[in-house]
Amino acid sequence: MSVHREARCRGPYGGEGGQADGAHCSDPAVFEIVRYRMPPLPVCPVHLGPALLMASGVLWPPEIRLIGRI
Ligand SMILES: [Zn+2]
Repeated sequence: MSVHREARCRGPYGGEGGQADGAHCSDPAVFEIVRYRMPPLPVCPVHLGPALLMASGVLWPPEIRLIGRI
């Protein structure tokens, strides 16, 4: 199974552009969190939980897609 691109974890905050500061996780993303009017947030398993609580635009209940291997 191939992933369309090598997605990297953007967790746990999921900042955009300049706000991406502080997201230093470089693990491959395994999940993608759907967000309201924002691009989906790719996260590694470790940051899935924190990102659900701390990233902006996360739907509730959360909508999560599996995009990589666990
Ligand atoms: Zn991570």
